[in-house]
Amino acid sequence: MTRRLLRRPTRRQVLGGAAGFVAAAAWRVPAVRAAIADPVALGEAEATILTDGHLNLPLSFALPEQRAEEIAALLEPHGLPTDAIRPDCNITLFRTADRLVLLDAGAGPMFQDTAGRLPESLAEAGIGAEDITDIIFTHGHPDHLWGVIDDFDEPVFPEASYWVPQAEWDFWRADDTLSNMPEAGKAFVVGARNRFDAIEERVSLVKPGDEPVPGVEAIDTSGHTPGHTSYMLHGNGESMLVVGDAISHPVISFEKPGWHSGADQDREKGAATRRALLERIVVDNARIVGFHLPYPGIGTAERQGEAYRFVPI
Ligand SMILES: [Zn+2]
Repeated sequence: MTRRLLRRPTRRQVLGGAAGFVAAAAWRVPAVRAAIADPVALGEAEATILTDGHLNLPLSFALPEQRAEEIAALLEPHGLPTDAIRPDCNITLFRTADRLVLLDAGAGPMFQDTAGRLPESLAEAGIGAEDITDIIFTHGHPDHLWGVIDDFDEPVFPEASYWVPQAEWDFWRADDTLSNMPEAGKAFVVGARNRFDAIEERVSLVKPGDEPVPGVEAIDTSGHTPGHTSYMLHGNGESMLVVGDAISHPVISFEKPGWHSGADQDREKGAATRRALLERIVVDNARIVGFHLPYPGIGTAERQGEAYRFVPI
C-alpha cells in the first residue's frame, strides 16, 4: 500500500476493508424528526444531547469471549436481542456564553447507513455547522471521528477548532499502527489518519487534567483505545461526565463490567477502567452521559451486588 493510499483511502477501500459490519451502501440517512431531549442545565451553561443515529453490531463482535448461553442469560431478562446490538450514538452539545462545543463529531456518511445523522440533528436544533466553535474528541473510532468530513472529503464544521487526546493522536498516526492492527481494524486506522489529516491545521492536543475549553475537564479513561478520554462538564457547581465509550451498554457494561469487550483495544485495561469509572460514579453520585447508552444516554449508576445498574435520569 502506498503512502498516498494510506493518506487518502477511497470510499471503496474504506468500505471494502472495514471490520465486516460497515454497510455496503452508506449514504447519509434522511432526517428523522425525533424529538430532541430537553437540555441539561449546568449553571449558566447547558448540555443538549443530539442523536447521530445508531449502529448495528453483531454480539459476536461485542462479546467475543462469552458463550452464547451466558449472553442470552444476561440479555433475555431485559427483553434485549441476543444476536446483535443496536447502540444509539449520542453526541453532547455543550453551550456556554461564548462557545458551542461538540463532544465527538459522529460517523459521517461513510461508516454505517444508520449513523451519520448529526448534521440533521443540528439543523433540527436550529444550529448551523458553521456555528460550532470547538469539537472535542473522546477517541478516534469511526462513529466518533469520521463525521468531520462529508461525502466529498470537505470539512463539515468550517469554523471549528479541534481537540484530540495526545495519546490518541499519537497512536493512530504512529508508523507501525497499521501493520500491528488486526485485519478487521485496519480500515479504522486508515480512516482515522484520513480524518486527522483533514483537520490537522486546526488540531490542539489534550492531556488528562487539561481544560481544553472552560468548563470541560479531560479525564483519562484509556483502554477502549490507547488515548480514550472522558470529559467532565462543569457549570456553577453542576456537572455531568461525558464517558464516551468507557461505558457503552446499559446492561452489559453495568452488570458484567469485567466481561471483555471486543470493541476495547486493550480488553483487560478497558474492563479495569470501566470498573473504576463505575465505582467513581457511585461514590460521587455522578451524572453521566454515555455515547452508546439509550438516547439521550443520561443517568447514573447504583451498586447491585458485585456489579452495578444503570439508572436513567
Ligand atoms: Zn463508539
